[in-house]
Amino acid sequence: MIKIFQLLRVRVFVLLAFSSLVFINQCGPFSAKSHDQPAPAVIAATSQEISTDARFDSHIAELKKRLPSKEFTVITQPPFVVIGDEPATVVNEHAVTTIKWAVDRLKQDFFTKDPKYILDIWLFKDAVSYQKHTRILFGEEPTTPYGYYSSTLKALIMNIGTGGGTLVHEIVHPFMEANFPACPPWFNEGLGSLYEQCGDVNGHIYGFSNWRLPGLQQAIKQGNTSSFKNLTAMDSNAFYSDGKGINYSESRYLCYYLQEKGLLVKFYQEFQTHQKEDPSGYKSLQKVLGTSNMDVFQKRWAKYVLALKQDFELRPL
Ligand SMILES: [Zn+2]
Repeated sequence: MIKIFQLLRVRVFVLLAFSSLVFINQCGPFSAKSHDQPAPAVIAATSQEISTDARFDSHIAELKKRLPSKEFTVITQPPFVVIGDEPATVVNEHAVTTIKWAVDRLKQDFFTKDPKYILDIWLFKDAVSYQKHTRILFGEEPTTPYGYYSSTLKALIMNIGTGGGTLVHEIVHPFMEANFPACPPWFNEGLGSLYEQCGDVNGHIYGFSNWRLPGLQQAIKQGNTSSFKNLTAMDSNAFYSDGKGINYSESRYLCYYLQEKGLLVKFYQEFQTHQKEDPSGYKSLQKVLGTSNMDVFQKRWAKYVLALKQDFELRPL
């Protein structure tokens, strides 16, 4: 595994926006090249199957009436429609090398059902476009510089200038909603954020350690993490009220640990199957880890996390 990480090491840059640090979250088949697997060809993403689908046709016809300017390109990439204001070839490349790439791999390992509705993925080229168009199209002010998923708007609204990784993070959410609607926030966000820095390892989606690591290591040292019993039991209010993002990081690196031990897919299946009697996933976690003593396990996990290094280096632009 160490060898793979060395092969896949790439640089990630930090840029300044929204008056605070914004990280580039990168995802996609870039790493496939290290494994001699062909990168997907950039092709017109509109498939024959969907262009004849009346549902998509009428959706796109309505969408075109709402486009804020002629700069926008619309591409069908089932189960999504992708709309972006970068050059058409670039929008098409995101549709194929990030969206299709991630959807294929997420469905291969986790999800059997597509989202119930056609969802729009808006890819705004930079922070200015993202803020302006989110206001014009949805009457909202973004609360994150990266992008977000709104089930109410049936849309993923992205600042694609911050990289494709956040897009993959957000793609996890509508799939989770369709396949595991009762999924608690820790696993929904843990899996989403695992893949905000991802690549292809042996044909599977794979999350790498990323910018969330140093903050988590500091929280572990200061004793500011939650017990896994408490983390997994958190409802949305408790989980999202953590302004420092420690709940996200802790969940991400619990998923990362499972991935590294080859247990992540097994855990997802176990948890989904037993969700009624184990709504937090805590018992499934114990079962898959083969331990009932979670205090001992958490100490082992903390030691493991403290020894991790970022696969993706960060430096200011
Ligand atoms: Zn999320």
